[in-house]
Amino acid sequence: MLPCVRCKAETELYENGVPICFGCSVRERSTQEVLETTANKGEAFRRFEAIVLQSPGHLPHADGVQVIKNAANELSVARKQMARAYDRLSTYLEQGIVPEDLKVTAKKAVTTMAAGVGAQGTAKRSSTAILLKSPKQR
Ligand SMILES: [Zn+2]
Repeated sequence: MLPCVRCKAETELYENGVPICFGCSVRERSTQEVLETTANKGEAFRRFEAIVLQSPGHLPHADGVQVIKNAANELSVARKQMARAYDRLSTYLEQGIVPEDLKVTAKKAVTTMAAGVGAQGTAKRSSTAILLKSPKQR
């Protein structure tokens, strides 16, 4: 048992060779997801903007319209993914609810952890809350 690199709670879990408790692991992966989806949304917006700015002042050809539609769809998908990532992280931080796909890891984690520290207990004890603005409010 070593102290978690984030909260110093004892843990038997490791990620990339670093001791990290389950709660901190979920928080870190969810935060990473927010950062990645936000970056993807930014990229999608830049592509969309570049395409739209290519034809200022006149209507694009039919294939140009399709290119714009495709870029708009990509941007829409990227925004939804970002909103979902923010929602997953804030739900975890505020309510201790672990995203479904991270629960698989939770089960493995609980079996390798010493007696009885569940994911929700770990999350509730966390004093580090990251306040996020919902992307819908921007
Ligand atoms: Zn921790």
